[in-house]
Amino acid sequence: MDNSIKAEEKKDIGIMSLDELKEEMTKLGAPAFRAGQIFSWLHAKYAGSFDEMTNLSKDFRELLNKRYEIRRPSILKELISEKDGTRKYLLRLYDGNVIESVLMKYEHGNSVCISSQAGCRMGCGFCASTLNGLERNLSFYEMAGQIYTIAAHTKEKISNVVIMGSGEPLDNYKNLKGFIELVSDKNGMNLGRRNITVSTCGIVPKIYELADEGYAITLAISLHSPTDELRRQIMPIARKYSIKELMDAAAYYYGKTGRRITFEYTLIKDFNDSDKCAMELMKLINGLKQKNVMCHVNLIPVNAVKERKFEHSKPPFIQNFKNILERYQINVTIRREMGSDINAACGQLRKSYIDEGEQGKVL
Ligand code: SF4
Repeated sequence: MDNSIKAEEKKDIGIMSLDELKEEMTKLGAPAFRAGQIFSWLHAKYAGSFDEMTNLSKDFRELLNKRYEIRRPSILKELISEKDGTRKYLLRLYDGNVIESVLMKYEHGNSVCISSQAGCRMGCGFCASTLNGLERNLSFYEMAGQIYTIAAHTKEKISNVVIMGSGEPLDNYKNLKGFIELVSDKNGMNLGRRNITVSTCGIVPKIYELADEGYAITLAISLHSPTDELRRQIMPIARKYSIKELMDAAAYYYGKTGRRITFEYTLIKDFNDSDKCAMELMKLINGLKQKNVMCHVNLIPVNAVKERKFEHSKPPFIQNFKNILERYQINVTIRREMGSDINAACGQLRKSYIDEGEQGKVL
C-alpha cells in the first residue's frame, strides 16, 4: 500500500475568470479585491510569476505560489529578422510541449501570430505543423499567454492577433471562444475583436457556430485550390466538406458578422498556379460577390517544407495569377514574406526541435 501523501497539484490560475478568482480568494480568506489585482497582473500586465505582483505582500505571493501555477509559455528560442524586425519564437508550454509564435511589425501596428494546438491533425499536404500529428489542444490561457510572453519580452504593444500558427482553431473551439473573450476583456488585454483573425482550413459546421456567437472577428479561410478535385489532394478536410459547402458557410458568416472574408491561397508550382486555376477561383469569388459578400484573396508564396514535395510558384506566375483576378475586380494581395531571412516555414522550427531533441535555453 502506498502511504505517500501526494502533493496537491497546483491549480492553473490563468484560466480562472474574475468571479472564479474571487471564490478562490474567499477560500484563502483574502479580500475579494485581490482577485481584480491578480487578474490585472496576469492579463493586463502579462505577469509570468507571482513575484512580479508587487502590490501583494510577500507572504501572500508565497501562498499563491504554493497553490497556483502561471502556465505562461516560456521562450526557448528567438529568431530576429534583420530585414523587417519579424521575430519568430519557439515557446515551451508548462508540460514540455513546444509551439511557435511570430511577432510581425507593420506600419499599422504590431501583429502576433499564435498557435492554437501543439501540432495539428488536419494533415494539410504543404504544412510542417501536422507532420507529427496532434499533441494536444492549448488552453485559452496558453493561447493568450503567447501574446503576453512576447509583449512582456519585447515591451511592444500588440494591436492585432492572428490565430494562424500551428493547429486548427476550430478544432479547439471551446478554447478559441475562451481566448476571444479573455483577450477582449476590458480588465485584461482589452483587444478589439475586430483586431482578431481566425484562420481555418474549413470545418464548415464550426464556421456556422462561430458566425452565431456574435463575435465579429475576421475569418480567414485556407482555400488553396479552386476545385474539390485539387483541394482533396492537399487538404484532407476537403474530403469531408465541398467547396460549395464552404462558400455557403462563408456567405453565412459574412451575413451574420458583416466582416469581409479572406481567402488564403497558397501558390504551389505546377499544381494550383495556372491561368485555369485563377479563372476557377475568380468564378468562386464572383459567386460570393453576387450575393453581396465582401471578399479578399491573399496569395501566399508557399514556404518549401523539406519533407514535402511542393515548390514555390515563381514570381512571374504569382503576378500573373494576381493580374487575372484583378482583371475581374477581385480584391487581391500577395502576402509579404515576413522574416524571410529567418526562414523556417511555419511549423518547421518546432519540427526540427522535436526531431533533433535540440535543447534551447529558456530566456
Ligand atoms: S495548415 Fe493549419 S490546419 Fe492545415 S495542417 Fe497546417 S496547421 Fe493544421
